Amino acid sequence: MSPRIAETCLLCGNSDAEVLCEFPELTWVTCSCGLVYKRDESVPEVQYKEEYFGTREGRRRQYDERRKRRISKSRSQILDVLNHTPPGPLLDVGCSLGYTLQAAVDLGLPATGVDISEHAVKVCREQGFAAEIGSFHELPFADGSFQIVIMKHVLEHTPRPREALREIRRVLRPGGGVFIAVPHGGYVKARRNPTGYRWYRPEFHGAEHYAYYTPATMSRLLREERFDPVQVPHPHLVHRRAGIPRKAAEIAVAPLRFVAQRARSLVALDKEFWVTAVCL
Ligand SMILES: [Zn+2]
Repeated sequence: MSPRIAETCLLCGNSDAEVLCEFPELTWVTCSCGLVYKRDESVPEVQYKEEYFGTREGRRRQYDERRKRRISKSRSQILDVLNHTPPGPLLDVGCSLGYTLQAAVDLGLPATGVDISEHAVKVCREQGFAAEIGSFHELPFADGSFQIVIMKHVLEHTPRPREALREIRRVLRPGGGVFIAVPHGGYVKARRNPTGYRWYRPEFHGAEHYAYYTPATMSRLLREERFDPVQVPHPHLVHRRAGIPRKAAEIAVAPLRFVAQRARSLVALDKEFWVTAVCL
């Protein structure tokens, strides 16, 4: 329970941040660059054990229903990256219970997962997936092993996002694609009442998260780490590498989805945002 103090902004290095909300255990600040980050804390580190994944008895049915939805969402996200990079071996960083691995295998991609949670890796292996225990700060893979890296709700878990991105760059081939999903720092509920919102509260995500990005701050971080953010912040409306029936359906509903996406971002209803970037 040693207090960790980030005196300067994780993104721009300035120290002029203003307090956004304060709790006895931790403080969140907003930097002039737009990044919201945790300045100091004295809460114990989060353990990603079985409870974290919500699969205990009683929640099992809810989990099974969610699983189908998550695999389908992952498929769409992988297709987003395939609009910008050729198919190849995929690494899912923070692979959780294997939703993205399943979607990758369904798309015919060789897939590997990595997670700091022993429980998550065990569950993935039981399903027959390749998965390793490891941190995104030190990935247990050789340089240039992957064409695609998926990183969903991972980057907000580190006070050292630049190091994490360098490690991603190391395991990616040149021209490889990375898909990033993070909570949207501009989300209307989080902005309206930060002290009451679970993203900031120490008993909820406040303990495990270190920064909240917006499409602008994430793009800056990626560019500075030599990634080209090619699709921010919305999902693609049409996927080049989707099957013909799916692509036809996507083209038909694209105008409607476009309007819906714009409306949601205008009123800040997006709770998360997605970025696809290519390794330069
Ligand atoms: Zn800053």
